[in-house]
Amino acid sequence: MTFDEQVAYYETHPPKCIEQFQAVAIPAPDIPIDGHAGDNINTFWLLRCSCGNESFFLHGYDYYAPNYGMVFISPLHAQCTSCNGKTLLLDTDKHGYDPVAVGGPVSTYHGLTEDGAAPALCNCNRCRAEKFQLTVRFEFSSDNFDYPIDELIGREADLFSWTSVIGSCDTCGFEDVLAEFECA
Ligand SMILES: [Zn+2]
Ligand SMILES: [Zn+2]
Repeated sequence: MTFDEQVAYYETHPPKCIEQFQAVAIPAPDIPIDGHAGDNINTFWLLRCSCGNESFFLHGYDYYAPNYGMVFISPLHAQCTSCNGKTLLLDTDKHGYDPVAVGGPVSTYHGLTEDGAAPALCNCNRCRAEKFQLTVRFEFSSDNFDYPIDELIGREADLFSWTSVIGSCDTCGFEDVLAEFECA
């Protein structure tokens, strides 16, 4: 599959972890994101609740990582501010290249296993409000189709190597990366 064919594939195949949302593929927002070096493919999905609303609370875990500082870690749930429906958005122990293709180990801190991790609601770095329009970004290595593993054929969209949750604050409009994970 050529690079452009892969871009077209990933932009029409959302990863399983966001399939409960009416996610819409959008162009890259103008915001710096972290990722692997090289020719990767990045997709960006604006989340819409099944009720049609595009405003969410983002639930996750605050964790003070030794030698690093405060991080906001998974499992992440998005809660619709209109219908209150709460949906799992990302669990770094289950979603992404390492858990899906390798079966672990997962290098990222996890809210349910890290000592001292506490459930928390994400808030805006500028105004502290808690409602966001959410865009989820997935990075894919351009060689995912080159070495097919039988049981992973058709699951290429779940083999993302990095993911970011980008929030646009409903209150002040500030756009920021709310959470980011290396997954491979
Ligand atoms: Zn809703
Ligand atoms: Zn704000």
